[in-house]
Amino acid sequence: MAEQKRDYYEVLGVDKNADDAALKKAYRVLAKKYHPDMNPGNKEAEKKFKEASEAYAVLSDPEKRRQYDQFGHAAFEGGAGGAGGFGGFDFSSADFSDIFGDIFGDLFGGRGRSGGRSGPVKGANLRTSVRITFEEAVFGTEKQIDLTVKEECKTCHGTGAKPGTSPETCSKCGGKGQVVFTQQSFFGTVRNVQTCPDCNGTGKVIREKCADCRGTGYVPMKKRFAVTIPAGIDNGQCKRLAGQGEPGSNGGPRGDILVEVIVGSHPIFQRQDVNIYSTVPISFAVAALGGETVIDTVDGKVVYDVKAGTQTDTRVRLKGKGVPSLRNPDVRGDHYVTLVVQTPERLSAEARDLLRRFDEETGDSLHAADRVNGGDAPKKKRGFFK
Ligand SMILES: [Zn+2]
Ligand SMILES: [Zn+2]
Repeated sequence: MAEQKRDYYEVLGVDKNADDAALKKAYRVLAKKYHPDMNPGNKEAEKKFKEASEAYAVLSDPEKRRQYDQFGHAAFEGGAGGAGGFGGFDFSSADFSDIFGDIFGDLFGGRGRSGGRSGPVKGANLRTSVRITFEEAVFGTEKQIDLTVKEECKTCHGTGAKPGTSPETCSKCGGKGQVVFTQQSFFGTVRNVQTCPDCNGTGKVIREKCADCRGTGYVPMKKRFAVTIPAGIDNGQCKRLAGQGEPGSNGGPRGDILVEVIVGSHPIFQRQDVNIYSTVPISFAVAALGGETVIDTVDGKVVYDVKAGTQTDTRVRLKGKGVPSLRNPDVRGDHYVTLVVQTPERLSAEARDLLRRFDEETGDSLHAADRVNGGDAPKKKRGFFK
């Protein structure tokens, strides 16, 4: 005979707006009270326990709760029916192990189901840094770094067991690394899957530990690594040595070594991405008359033809004399040189005379040109160098 199903909120004795914490709290109380193991042979208690569990399974699932709020019990009718006396509710779709793990896990102060993992875990990354010069960053380099990493113990070949003995299969978990933690409580038996406390999830126990590695199978060893630093690397960028870090556990791979590259500053050059900047002084006479000046670049000295009438702070581009791109080493940035006209500070009597004569001869016309052209003329000349 068909029974009238009670409202889920009513079953749990909670408000329609009850949040997760309130639902859980209400269900815990009922689960304790009606758990079949607490009420052996009591069909009524069993029925109440199932009713409460069903209500909690639905209301603790946001999607199911939404459906229930909208359609009531009809939401679950016509599903995988025949769940003995529970209408059409598909019990198999509700993850009760999850619900119970959660509820009973915190009832007993256990770590719950999340503590039960014992799969392969990748080892930790090791971090270090290496210092290189400005030029090394531009052209790439190879560096050696010394690091202490855990290496397989040679005495026990990584087993952790004293030579002559070998690790045994953990008797507590039978080598599975996990134990089903069963606890008898006043209201019944609670099961919880946890990492095996005897073997820490490895499935093996070592009776007699290797003295050299204290049973860990690894010993810290100083090792030298070659780090190939590509041309174009910039300050603060990292070079990764994949799979060279700390060993993993339970068969997991090694972590990585991350080498941070610290690029030293340069007395002459500054860098911005792939471009290099520097300042080169030119004499007053070369600026006026034109002539050759020598410019330092990362490729060596370059002779540059300064045009006659060069103004101070004129910026000159040396194409392709910058830093190679990390992505494509064939592409290089540029080197921008700011030419700064040096005004002479100390002059001989003869030079002073010459400059006076120069001033008398050109001073008026220069000033006049300025007034007439409104500064246009010098701009044009600058534009020539851009
Ligand atoms: Zn060892
Ligand atoms: Zn074990």
